[in-house]
Amino acid sequence: MKNILLKNVQHIDLKSGNIRTVDILYTQDGVIDTIAPEISPTTNCEIIEGEGNYALPGLINGHAHLFGSGKPMNLNISPKLLHLIYRLAQTRFGKNILLKQMKKHAQIELMSGVTTIRSVGEFFYQDVKLRDQINSGKIIGPSLFVSGFFLSTTDGHGAPFLALESDSPWEGRKNVRKNMKHGIDWIKICVTGGVTDAKRIGEAGALQFTEEEIIAICNEAHKNHRMVAAHVESTEGMRIALRGGVDTIEHGAVMDQEIINLFKKNPKSLRGHSSLIPTFTAAFPSMFLTKAELKLSDIVIENGKLVYQEMISGFKQAVESEIEIGMGNDASMSFVTHYDIWRELDHTVRFGHVSPLTILQHATLNNAKILGIEKHYGSLEVGKQADLILLKKNPLEDISALKSINQVIKNGQNIQLKPTKKWSMLDTLLDRI
Ligand SMILES: [Zn+2]
Repeated sequence: MKNILLKNVQHIDLKSGNIRTVDILYTQDGVIDTIAPEISPTTNCEIIEGEGNYALPGLINGHAHLFGSGKPMNLNISPKLLHLIYRLAQTRFGKNILLKQMKKHAQIELMSGVTTIRSVGEFFYQDVKLRDQINSGKIIGPSLFVSGFFLSTTDGHGAPFLALESDSPWEGRKNVRKNMKHGIDWIKICVTGGVTDAKRIGEAGALQFTEEEIIAICNEAHKNHRMVAAHVESTEGMRIALRGGVDTIEHGAVMDQEIINLFKKNPKSLRGHSSLIPTFTAAFPSMFLTKAELKLSDIVIENGKLVYQEMISGFKQAVESEIEIGMGNDASMSFVTHYDIWRELDHTVRFGHVSPLTILQHATLNNAKILGIEKHYGSLEVGKQADLILLKKNPLEDISALKSINQVIKNGQNIQLKPTKKWSMLDTLLDRI
């Protein structure tokens, strides 16, 4: 097996923030063998000159979906047409198209520096299929950790198309078992309503599951060593989700002391504590753009604003209280493309008031811990996967350096960076924020 020697890179150690010039030796199948200032090439060793590049671990997108492109969605489609699209998507032909789209989106994420994705809700288990194709080496893509369908209440967030519905603890357990049977890695539940399908202002944070139902779902998932990610957009939603034992709160809201305490010590969760994964990119357009620019309904915009304000306050409280925080951008939602993960990090620095080092830690070290994959991912260390990105500028000085990735290496393989189709209208609007 050939070894690869990456010479003279400026390695950014995200644990300390220190930068030093090193060589990195890794095997062709992607395990880091040595990191040291001067490594002599062994026989059968390919040399890559990395001078002038900053090297850091590949980013982990802790909250994404792969089914959509991120181009603003028309949410006013008639229910009849929606049903028709759904029935078509369910056919073999439809599933193939969906899988192709998801593969394309996953590869765009990879080229933008995301080497691992936790996908939190997709249609017809095509996420499981894509994960297996990537793992078998059939196709190149980021490592995927997948959740299959959402678990929601009848007519709850994402239902009926994106969710398995249940209305009692036992039905909830059954839906965990259904997702388990299809080979998922995570369970995703919708504890409150969401912005995209709310029918009135304020519905995004309204409670849907009860605490008893959440306890049953978490218990069933944990029994099978699966963690539970909870879509939550209100304080009361966080309270019952954490009491019920969920492992991650997605999006988030304003916290009180009980909620902060539960994050830090959560006896019903799998690891004994729970984490927060905010997703600003999905909500900040509603906050900062006009209705004419957004082309979304008043209900969606108003709910988006409410959720954004709650989320940013909750995030600041979480930083202050030293709650474990990850990073995700809710790719596939309107305005959240697969090629611009940098916006999530940039927004968190500017509006969440954290340093570039902190948000990079959330996106790598913390996300790896939250996903339970820190033995292999999340930092550049001997014995871990050679998943890294090379940048010409120092992201610790300016986080928007992530906008232009010079090279991506996934499992020791050089990823050929191809130009991706971008939506200049959308980018111009978001650049203004
Ligand atoms: Zn989401």
